[in-house]
Amino acid sequence: MSIHEACGIFGIYDTGGDCAQSVYYGLYALQHRGQEDCGIAAINNLELSCHKGHGLVGDVFSESILKSLAGTTAIGHVRYAAGGATHRDNAQPLTLTYIKGSLAVAHNGSLVNSMELKREYEYKGAVFHTTTDSEIIAYIIAQARLHSGSIEAAVNQAMKRLKGAFSLVVMSSRKLIAARDPWGFRPLCIGMKGDAIIFASESCALDSVDAAFIRDVLPGEVVWVEDGKLHSNRDNCTRESTLCIFEHLYFARPDSVIDGQSVYDSRINAGRRLALEHPIDADVVIGVPDSGLIAAKGYSLATGIPYNDGFIKNRYIGRTFIASTQSFREEAVKIKLNPLRATVGGKRVVMIDDSIVRGTTVSRFSLLRDAGAKEIHVLSSSPKFISPCYYGTDIPTKETLFACNHSDEEMREIIGADSLGFLSLEGLATIAPNSCCGFCDACFTEKYPVL
Ligand code: SF4
Repeated sequence: MSIHEACGIFGIYDTGGDCAQSVYYGLYALQHRGQEDCGIAAINNLELSCHKGHGLVGDVFSESILKSLAGTTAIGHVRYAAGGATHRDNAQPLTLTYIKGSLAVAHNGSLVNSMELKREYEYKGAVFHTTTDSEIIAYIIAQARLHSGSIEAAVNQAMKRLKGAFSLVVMSSRKLIAARDPWGFRPLCIGMKGDAIIFASESCALDSVDAAFIRDVLPGEVVWVEDGKLHSNRDNCTRESTLCIFEHLYFARPDSVIDGQSVYDSRINAGRRLALEHPIDADVVIGVPDSGLIAAKGYSLATGIPYNDGFIKNRYIGRTFIASTQSFREEAVKIKLNPLRATVGGKRVVMIDDSIVRGTTVSRFSLLRDAGAKEIHVLSSSPKFISPCYYGTDIPTKETLFACNHSDEEMREIIGADSLGFLSLEGLATIAPNSCCGFCDACFTEKYPVL
């Protein structure tokens, strides 16, 4: 529950429509992927315009700002600061003007070789204005464009230098390009609405603009729109894919489908599998809003134990409650969630959370106890976090990971639960049977696909 994804991206090529308005809707649908900053850049008659700001999409853009972003191509970004400091300059899309024209880049993920690349280019005279990987990516693409016949060839060339997680939308004066890293860590899909072609982090953003889902961008693929037509280059589709499994458990919206697998179904499957691995005699199953709810339904479906609402979530909590100190996080848990006495009072409760990362969930359980729960059995729909993430999420250092520093019994005791269970690694491997992608599970196994 205290993990945050680093960004959502959206791009549209539409000669007949209002591109900025579509990006605005798309970013609204992707807001769960980042609430810190957002921005939209548009191209109109070779003129690049951009507006970025700190905060939610609905707060940063007004009708008049959207009107000022008229264009036939536009890209947008919502950001959570997992990589790069919290600073307005780090908001995206990143825009630059160079000898070949204008360029705008929006990026989701995190490079593992960004420091190395940055140092290399700084020694060649480059000056970077932000602390984001996106600026490094934009710079490498611009450099590659000087020796490539087209912007898509430059993106393809630049990808060979980038290691780690990156899903990109790139806009030049005449083209819209999307690319996904060869490992496929972060999702990226293609949609169409009439003649308009759209690239988005998740399929729920295509739904928001009434576009039809066409397909996912393949890991390593570069796709681009030129003269209204979609083109593809698969030169970098060279390795086994490793989509972040946590997209299915937590990051992505349940109404999205990623690489052929419904996120909703994955969470139901995780709950069903928990029921197999941790059968408990109980009166009610509840989930921790939001991503624990569907796994709780899965557990209920598999066991026949009634599912009910266990918490009421305060929907008006702002971002300030999230990125802060440990003690502040614990306070935030109490303000964000209030247990329903009517559901849990006098009952033996199975409570399902999507993850137990830092141990800040402690106060959540004591609240359940205060609300009269007779027994509290805590289940996590992901395995134990034992290692950090280097691919764009803020899963922290080993020192702060609950499961790294405590035995199962210690964790149970600290939490104050009657029992505590985690989805097994074998169970995790079964939750997304329709996915055409392999998965990264490094934060549970320490087996990193690339370092
Ligand atoms: Fe996802 Fe964990 Fe892999 Fe990071 S390390 S990409 S959070 S599975």
